[in-house]
Amino acid sequence: MNILILGGGGREHALAWAIRQNPKCDRLIVAPGNAGIASFARCASINIDSPADVLTFAEEHAIDFVVIGPEAPLAAGVSDALREAGLPVFGPSRAAAQLEASKTFTKEVCDACDAPTAAWARFTEAAPACAYVSEKGAPIVVKADGLAAGKGVTVAETVAQAHEAIAQIFDGEFGDTSVVIEEFMDGEEASFFILCDGKTCLPVGTAQDHKRVGDGDTGPNTGGMGAYSPAPILTEALQDQVMDRIVRPTMAEMADRGMPFQGVLYAGLMIKDGQARLVEYNVRFGDPECQVLMMRLGGQVLDLLLACAEGRLDQAQVTWAEDHALTVVMAANGYPGEYEKGSVINGLSNLPETSFEMVFHAGTKDQDGQVVASGGRVLACTGRGATLTEAHQRAYDLVDRIDWPQGFCRRDIGWRALPH
Ligand code: ATP
Repeated sequence: MNILILGGGGREHALAWAIRQNPKCDRLIVAPGNAGIASFARCASINIDSPADVLTFAEEHAIDFVVIGPEAPLAAGVSDALREAGLPVFGPSRAAAQLEASKTFTKEVCDACDAPTAAWARFTEAAPACAYVSEKGAPIVVKADGLAAGKGVTVAETVAQAHEAIAQIFDGEFGDTSVVIEEFMDGEEASFFILCDGKTCLPVGTAQDHKRVGDGDTGPNTGGMGAYSPAPILTEALQDQVMDRIVRPTMAEMADRGMPFQGVLYAGLMIKDGQARLVEYNVRFGDPECQVLMMRLGGQVLDLLLACAEGRLDQAQVTWAEDHALTVVMAANGYPGEYEKGSVINGLSNLPETSFEMVFHAGTKDQDGQVVASGGRVLACTGRGATLTEAHQRAYDLVDRIDWPQGFCRRDIGWRALPH
């Protein structure tokens, strides 16, 4: 089978690495890919946000299955174009991708199916939004309504901060003309990943990530500095609760609206006193959560994603090992602020590449035979083991063998779940 994966980050390296292990995978092309992916798959340069370009490429290369990694091609309707042409594709339709692209849409869906989430209100003008915040008081959460790559959310500790965030949104900083104000939810955050084919939902793992740039969860927010799976707080009982109260009702509501969801639903949850509430949905795997999930799932992931795309999840099953995985992101000095590109990374070629230790590339490219940094988050050093401690040891062993003075990482990934 010829497979095309769209994307070029650590998430797509991990997806490609797992899919490659499945004997059903004959030819693997990743667009645009990166230097790590290029070592075992062909990388192609196409505009992955253009439905027409992706479809033409898939037809020209006799592709049998397309896996969409990032959210932008989903929001652009790439999966719709491929599905219309009769090609199996993993990734929701543009309409169903609103679960990530529009906070208002998600809140309306949650209200319609009674899924527990924060109380909310939406405003298209600053003055009533500010008045609402003054009435409710702080802490309170202010969100730009559309996709803002995680930068459109302010957890305001004071009413003044919330007012400032509202003003910024209406100044057009995020290209949005509406704001969602939410009740602040206290608790511990965790992520839950569920494959859905429009009818059947199949959980494929839990994870927790570290969003802040610095040790001790300090400093500015990033795309994610590390993650581990499973998330101990998401017990089996809590997963069942989330499936019953949040995931299945949402999927049924989506089907009722004529936009059945096919792909991976990534539920961001806030957990307190044994109860989970929804913070947000994403409609693709998280990065770096995907790296730890793929490490645990391995080659079976191709069968699962294909069953999802073909509406056969009722016959699919996940085979679990009693294992843990942990990934440490290495980023370019300065990230998430300004950073330099082009620094050479040494030591990568001597590292083990096994089902227990893998360095996934996120922002790298090959330059005259050398691997150079080409993004903010650059590598994801990932370990797997029978315990989280073992996975942690393996991940940091990889980090310590990489020679890259222009990069840094957090030293405390997994602190919450590791035995003290
Ligand atoms: P990302 O895709 O990076 O997760 P996003 O822009 O889609 O971000 P959200 O996930 O909705 O935004 O919010 C980002 C973060 O803000 C959450 O992970 C959570 O830590 C915090 N947050 C959001 N909503 C609430 C809430 N109602 N109560 C408490 N914290 C919240």
